[in-house]
Amino acid sequence: MTATTDTPVRVRFAPSPTGKLHVGGARTAIYNWAFARAMGGTFVLRIEDTDPERSTAENTGIILRAMEWLGLDWDEGPGVGGACGPYFQTERTDTYQAALDQLIAAGAAYPCFCTKEELDAKRKKAEAEEGGYGGYDRTCRALAPEEAAARIAAGEPHVWRLAVPDDHGPVEFEDAVYGHMSFPLDVMDDMILKRTDGTFTYNFAVVCDDVNMAMTHVIRGDDHLSNTPRQVLVYEALGAKVPLFAHLPMILGPDGHKLSKRHGATSVEQFRDEGYLPDALVNFLALIGWSLDGETTIVPPEELCRVFSLDRISKKHGVMDPQKLDWMNGVYLREMDEDAWLAAAAPWIARAEAQGASVDDGAVIVPTPAPGEEAPVRDFGPGCEGWDEAVAAALADIEADPSAYAPVYPLVIERLNRLDEIPAKLEFLFWGAGVRLDEKSVRKVLLKEGARAEEALAACREALAREDVPWEAAALEEACRALAEPLDLKVKSLLQPLRVAVCGNMVSPPLFESIELMEPVDVLARIDAVAAEVFGA
Ligand code: GLU
Repeated sequence: MTATTDTPVRVRFAPSPTGKLHVGGARTAIYNWAFARAMGGTFVLRIEDTDPERSTAENTGIILRAMEWLGLDWDEGPGVGGACGPYFQTERTDTYQAALDQLIAAGAAYPCFCTKEELDAKRKKAEAEEGGYGGYDRTCRALAPEEAAARIAAGEPHVWRLAVPDDHGPVEFEDAVYGHMSFPLDVMDDMILKRTDGTFTYNFAVVCDDVNMAMTHVIRGDDHLSNTPRQVLVYEALGAKVPLFAHLPMILGPDGHKLSKRHGATSVEQFRDEGYLPDALVNFLALIGWSLDGETTIVPPEELCRVFSLDRISKKHGVMDPQKLDWMNGVYLREMDEDAWLAAAAPWIARAEAQGASVDDGAVIVPTPAPGEEAPVRDFGPGCEGWDEAVAAALADIEADPSAYAPVYPLVIERLNRLDEIPAKLEFLFWGAGVRLDEKSVRKVLLKEGARAEEALAACREALAREDVPWEAAALEEACRALAEPLDLKVKSLLQPLRVAVCGNMVSPPLFESIELMEPVDVLARIDAVAAEVFGA
């Protein structure tokens, strides 16, 4: 039986809620979603929660939220419903039983009473004498139906197995990625469909669902490739059409090894928490293993939904390149209009504010490690008492009056790759009359230059304090720059001490635009405090 695509496309993403949504799973979801959209088809979300020990409702929630955050909307599934529900495997047991009954009636499934001990003994013997175990030897397939019925009636524990047809040639199916696949029949034993405890096996349940949900294509990770011939036998036994498969090569870490925690973020949740945008992540993941034309790198989700096709999926393993993701995220950040940016950045600006506001007025914090000690960590940050409340309060302020925060946009947008860079970049705006100095900047810009830096700082302070200079970036900058010549200083040598004193760091957003946003008394107080601390002035 060959798969055709003349019926409307129906595809599914079928995660097992045994953990978070990882990038591999997310990419599988993206391909299914984009394919459904490109073909005008239906995208189904099905939760495969049959492993009672490892599946949790909490993980299901995390996966659903990750899908929503990515913008992968499903047409049928949890929360949405649909004609083929329920969409949790644990609620579909009666459909598996009905399918099994159909197979039993057709003589395509049989009960097996062999105990675990008997099977183990057979396996050991075959391994010792025949050089390998060729699978279940079909002892119970030979039982007379009356005997089998009597043993079941007597309550003897049994499983149900698929009766693989003897006259079946190799098991064949079409794969959109790997092409025509063919597996010799002798490696398929009569697999178990229903266990002694009454539960159904994955290979059976998944086919029942894909048949009952009328899937036309099955797009999933290639870790399932070895299951597929077994599943094809189940489709055939049920008399169902075999879908077209697309098995997706794995995503590897930058070092060519299986992606794992040591490569950094691996779950969608982590990427969100590191300040990536959902559209950038979708674009990035889509391009690991699929390409539009081998060149284009920016394919926004809406476009992906128009142009995605299975024939451009690569057979090669994909490699995760975090630097490319950072770059791409920067592109998406700069593409956003200011309002959208501010909405996305608000939680991060709130962190900058919470962190910044924790610096006391008049305090000069120089995180100089004592010999043999590590540099002190930030005094106030995630995990600290009161942190969540402070961030929530700051976020409420931002949301109440976003326009007041709009001026920070031009300060950071040019060089921003990830939203989580915002707190460190913007914290200084919220220090008030205090300052947290970066040790290296103090050494390089202030201490090394000594008297020249002290002189430059004092001169700039005077310029900033001038009554006749309005508190506006251009005017303040002009007044300060004019000092370079009389002091015989390069502009950089003149302004870097000011930058360190006001922003705490020799690298900062545009200096005068930042100064404009702060209170004059605070800026002058910072300069005085730093001069006193560093030069003893
Ligand atoms: N539930 C399986 C998994 O999470 C996917 C099964 C399938 O796509 O056929 O790996």
